[in-house]
Amino acid sequence: MTTTSFDELATRILHGGAATEADALAVLRASDDDLMSVVAAAGRLRRAHFGNTVKVNYLVNLKSGLCPENCNYCSQALGSEAPILKYSWLSKDETLEQAGAGLRGGATRVCMVSSGRGPSNRDIDRVVEMTEALKEEYDGVEVCACLGLLKDGQAERLKAAGVDAYNHNINTAESHHDNIVQTHTYDDRVDTIGRAKGAGLSPCSGLIAGLGETDEQLVEALFALKALDTDSIPVNFLMPFDGTPYQNTWELAPIRCVLILAMARFVCPDKEIRIAGGREMHLRSLQATALQVANSLFLGDYLTSEGQDAQADIAMIRDNGFVILGAEDAFEEPAVEHDPAIRRRGAGTEVAANA
Ligand code: SF4
Repeated sequence: MTTTSFDELATRILHGGAATEADALAVLRASDDDLMSVVAAAGRLRRAHFGNTVKVNYLVNLKSGLCPENCNYCSQALGSEAPILKYSWLSKDETLEQAGAGLRGGATRVCMVSSGRGPSNRDIDRVVEMTEALKEEYDGVEVCACLGLLKDGQAERLKAAGVDAYNHNINTAESHHDNIVQTHTYDDRVDTIGRAKGAGLSPCSGLIAGLGETDEQLVEALFALKALDTDSIPVNFLMPFDGTPYQNTWELAPIRCVLILAMARFVCPDKEIRIAGGREMHLRSLQATALQVANSLFLGDYLTSEGQDAQADIAMIRDNGFVILGAEDAFEEPAVEHDPAIRRRGAGTEVAANA
């Protein structure tokens, strides 16, 4: 596809058309020279639907590790030897404290996550209690739950308690699913997304890139998400934890990650496209470029790994002319300014140069 064509594709989509699978593949396979043309074209769709806003979400891992499922990419999975924090359920007060830190840091949605195949009814009780407390304590807070596979009635109970959204990722293409996990099926995952939707929860489902999938399988996953019609699509980039089957698996380069996000934007132009796990390690200096096509991110840390400083996330949003959705006035204060640090190393000194 030529430079003009990416722009033409955006124009066609803005006029009510849709990207085809061939269009999506062409975006994914754009040359490095075409990167900014792709970003500019996908950016038109982002601006048309989300303006200059960024949705800022904050993760609270309610229960970490100790999972009986064997998702190969996950540091919390059965058999994972990744040296992560392992703990059982946070208390309500601990959850409020952690969520409060994220909200004070600039987030407007709290994503409460627990490891495990799916919640027991007692687990739903806990999350109901936490949600009610969160809603009471923090005016206007949005709550998303991510608790695994849901059983009858559980989504309805979450909805009744005030949970706004439910996340359950398909993670990869159906044709690749059984290569990455064997303890549950792709259909199990789709079933839970349907339950969340059926209960009136805003459905959130996304993918992980870098799991050995082909370009065609990435396209397949994106079109599956389009068909599921979820409101938000987190795009994760594999973090290959030592002690997991994917350790030392590095398939992604920063430009590739931007193209994946751009492809998601072309295929699902009006959906919240979130730069999720692996943002810092895979996008590196292209994080801000990625924000021109994606419109959402997680503030601060991930479930079992550390992200960059939350203040750096906020600075990146602000420096690039964006505002936080739901907290548009949060940037009224002037940016923190740093005085130039006087050089005291390299030429003219005995201290090693910065090189
Ligand atoms: S079910 Fe969730 S927590 Fe458990 S291994 Fe899979 S991704 Fe990790």
